[in-house]
Amino acid sequence: MNVESEVKLDIELAAGYLKMPQSRVQGLLNKRLLLQNWDDYQHLFRFDKNISKIEHGSVLYQKDGSFELIRGFPKIQRAMLLGSAINDHFSKIGSVVVEEKMNGYNVRVAGIDGRIAAITRGGLVCPYSTERAEYLIKPDFFTDHPDLILFGEMAGPDNPYVPKDIYGIESLEFFVFDIRHKGSGKPYPVYERRKLAEEYGFTQVRLFGEFPTSHAADEIAEIIRELGKIRHEGVVIKDPQMVLHPIKYTCSQSNCADLRHAFRYYNDYGRDYFFSRVVREGFQSVEWDENESELQKRCLQLGESILHPMVDSIRQIKDGKRISDDVQIRVRDIAVASRFEEYLRRLGVDAVFEAPQQVGDEYLVKIRKLNQSTNDKTESMCKGELW
Ligand code: ATP
Ligand code: MG
Repeated sequence: MNVESEVKLDIELAAGYLKMPQSRVQGLLNKRLLLQNWDDYQHLFRFDKNISKIEHGSVLYQKDGSFELIRGFPKIQRAMLLGSAINDHFSKIGSVVVEEKMNGYNVRVAGIDGRIAAITRGGLVCPYSTERAEYLIKPDFFTDHPDLILFGEMAGPDNPYVPKDIYGIESLEFFVFDIRHKGSGKPYPVYERRKLAEEYGFTQVRLFGEFPTSHAADEIAEIIRELGKIRHEGVVIKDPQMVLHPIKYTCSQSNCADLRHAFRYYNDYGRDYFFSRVVREGFQSVEWDENESELQKRCLQLGESILHPMVDSIRQIKDGKRISDDVQIRVRDIAVASRFEEYLRRLGVDAVFEAPQQVGDEYLVKIRKLNQSTNDKTESMCKGELW
């Protein structure tokens, strides 16, 4: 029997809650724009695209005869020229708050039916992130505030999506950067959010300070240069009241690190991913008014980030090896590793899980992500196929 079909969405009730005609909700289900989760979470329905005002990745579920909606995390637009973007975007407010942009993956943690669930950007409950969240976050936050959602970045080396060794984290930490209400998605103002997070002892993203809008760009450029030196990613610039949308800006070193990773698996990444990162370098060089030798250095760094990893991959594949992206997770309950394996399989990620190694009271599981497309493409080129 197919267990997944047991839970059905009450379309009439859902339509009432979403203020949509029933036919529209039915249409979303038919077109698979409103998708059902599985296993313990089959009563959660996720929006696979932006629908009216509901963001992609929003999660809808029935609760006490009505519904609850966990809104997706809104896209953060990027400043290309810091000075112009800040002046334009924040012209109505006197000052902006600057927080560190951590490089990991976005997770929403919510209390659902008395349990903690960690939801990834697309609206799926990730078994691995959920176990980490249960371990890292005291559940009393959700008993005290059942209508709040924590938004944060899961960062550190035991990370199946974006492993980074740059933060001095031993395994994986959850850095809170937003607290929002269920339903409306209304965010807490920055200082209230930081205070609340502190009360519960949560790890938070670093706060660099609040700067007058008129000269924030200079301060931020300084912060960016320093963050670049320690290979951190960048900053998110926010309206202290969280009424205007935040904007982001990243360090050149981080763009190059992304390129180094992506070009190793050049055929598995979308072309936009490469292009946008190259364009950022152009804008930063102009904004920082670089002289010939500074520009030369940037050219070299950019070129090396593209060619070195790619040449390395081609060489290996030409020599008959298969390349893989090696990541690892650390679990307390060994069953979580199997659930995570199944989860990746359902998402269509080709990954090989190695045998778990016991480390203290936890298990380390190495995972090889296979990047078939880069392997296959390169292999056929090496055999003489034309592009
Ligand atoms: P986007 O989130 O803008 O759709 P994206 O998924 O490519 O784009 P990034 O370029 O990494 O993401 O930038 C946005 C992400 O940065 C957020 O989704 C969030 O996960 C992460 N982030 C890290 N630190 C912060 C912070 N201090 N405030 C807000 N977001 C942060
Ligand atoms: Mg990111």
